[in-house]
Amino acid sequence: MGTLTGKTAVITGSTSGIGLAYARAMAKAGANIVLNGMGKPEDIEKERAGIEADFKVKAVHSPADMTKPAEIAEMVALGEKTFGSVDVLVNNAGIQFVSPIEDFPIEKWDAIIAINLSSAFHSIRAAVPGMKKRGWGRIINTASAHSLVASPFKSAYVAAKHGIAGLTKTVALEVATHKITCNCISPGYVWTPLVEKQIPDTMKARNMTKEQVINDVLLDAQPTKQFVTVEQVAALAVYLCGDDASQITGANLSIDGGWTAA
Ligand code: NAD
Repeated sequence: MGTLTGKTAVITGSTSGIGLAYARAMAKAGANIVLNGMGKPEDIEKERAGIEADFKVKAVHSPADMTKPAEIAEMVALGEKTFGSVDVLVNNAGIQFVSPIEDFPIEKWDAIIAINLSSAFHSIRAAVPGMKKRGWGRIINTASAHSLVASPFKSAYVAAKHGIAGLTKTVALEVATHKITCNCISPGYVWTPLVEKQIPDTMKARNMTKEQVINDVLLDAQPTKQFVTVEQVAALAVYLCGDDASQITGANLSIDGGWTAA
């Protein structure tokens, strides 16, 4: 029996990167999985079927767009309808955009606030009633080192991630007596498509080469001089789902190679 046998985990933005690692780690721990996120249908189906084959659990995909509140509620309802409950909710979908504030496109600000912050409000709002009814739940939000400190040219992302940290604390207090915990995980730089994609814009914004961005901007922030791995982030999330973590709530857990200690 795994930590999560018989339970259901909904993980937003789980077709790629950290989210996919959460999904696979939670499936390994026994949970049925609601995947969510964008991508080519054949790639998503490959990941979905792979989870079922590798871990002997069930997995479905919700195409909910995290900018659409009604679709987010439908995603939670899909988990409840398909598997009978949503016991673990991981808010993880996120995008990035890098630009000086005076040129920051308004639509990018709005999209980042919607996907990286407001979607977590909508999904938590939809999932908490069922968790309260069953008297158990785990809410895990992927924040970032940028929920604690800032970097230039990331105004929307830093604002959204500081918001996620505040939302996490508020929800933790509201559900504390219901055996529901709410925490956020704050990774430093993890090598995923999200990090890879921001390199060209950072090269432009700072007038640097790719190697300079990797070594002087990204890994410069991280005292260990190494990227965090998606598996390390996922293992922390699985730990938060266990009984040993039942008194960890409202916490912002850094996994950042020492970045925010500096
Ligand atoms: P990624 O680009 O690999 O994955 C992002 C996921 O979000 C994908 O599945 C994508 O389809 C999904 N997504 C994007 N827009 C969506 C929308 N409108 N609706 C539904 N799904 C949508 O990125 P990642 O690096 O794995 O990032 C995951 C989370 O981790 C993000 O919240 C990010 O801010 C956070 N984070 C990442 C790092 C890092 O270094 N990679 C560090 C700290 C925090």
